[in-house]
Amino acid sequence: MDRDQLIEHLVFAQELGVTGVSRDPAWRRRPDERPPAFAPETVIPVPVFGSPAEALSAVRAEIGDCTRCKLHRLGRRQIVFGVGNPEADLMFVGEAPGGDEDIQGIPFVGRAGQLLTKIIEAIGLKRDDVYIANVIKCRPPQNRNPEQDEVDTCEQFLFQQVDVIKPKVIVALGTFAARALLRTLDPISRLRGRVYEYRGARLIPTFHPAYLLRNPASKREVWEDMKAVKKLLELKS
Ligand code: URA
Repeated sequence: MDRDQLIEHLVFAQELGVTGVSRDPAWRRRPDERPPAFAPETVIPVPVFGSPAEALSAVRAEIGDCTRCKLHRLGRRQIVFGVGNPEADLMFVGEAPGGDEDIQGIPFVGRAGQLLTKIIEAIGLKRDDVYIANVIKCRPPQNRNPEQDEVDTCEQFLFQQVDVIKPKVIVALGTFAARALLRTLDPISRLRGRVYEYRGARLIPTFHPAYLLRNPASKREVWEDMKAVKKLLELKS
């Protein structure tokens, strides 16, 4: 690694709040080289006309003022569809909107969202360059975990978003998103550190920014994951 790369890495770590470096071998851990895991995929027809922006608008229109699951009568203010570049190479998927997102109608705008913005900027991108969405589009009451029937009803729209945007890389934020996308019950601690094939993209699971707010020491693992993301984005195809 040359001097400029070293500086870039240290600035990156600092941006994410890493306060020091270590010679501990655990720091050197990289996503391993095992063959990509395979996640079963559901085929969902997506609007094929027009640009990705138009196709996303069509998906949003199909959701409408959704009453498909019980969340519409449990206090959600509005549907939080997704935000960002409809042709993004990089997509982030979280769990469900929280209070701030429910008010503004935009994913990841609260404290966790501000940290996500820093994470995005730490790899040299802006929020507008990427696409951000959640597994479910409505806020669960008291920010409880989404329930299975809510996921089963709503995930088709996330799949459509992925199929329209066709990102090169998807980052699953936290246990919930990683489990929902990869159809597994493994915790994020087991899932992260590997790259998965997912709907034509490479999927990297990492810790949720809300978890990082409570456990800042895990920012170093997220930094490793984001370096892997950056490498994948730089690959030719
Ligand atoms: N947490 C999430 O998973 N998604 C959001 O949009 C905000 C917080």
